[in-house]
Amino acid sequence: MSTQEEPGPLLRVDHAACCRSGACSLVAPDLFDQGEDGKVLLKNPRPPGHLLAAAEEAADYCPVSAIELEAPPG
Ligand code: SF4
Repeated sequence: MSTQEEPGPLLRVDHAACCRSGACSLVAPDLFDQGEDGKVLLKNPRPPGHLLAAAEEAADYCPVSAIELEAPPG
């Protein structure tokens, strides 16, 4: 195996559940944005290590728990 970066956790958003609060894009603007309809737009489903804390914080702040960090299989 070469020195490849390990895949990080998968970041998922439940677009249907999003209530357009905008909290995620305020807390982690490198990972989230809001579309014209105000709903979340995921900018990067595989956040690099230095953005993991921000991803977790956004998940905590989301009022409808529409943000999930899922560990990769294995
Ligand atoms: S914090 Fe949650 S409800 Fe608010 S915009 Fe982001 S995903 Fe949607």
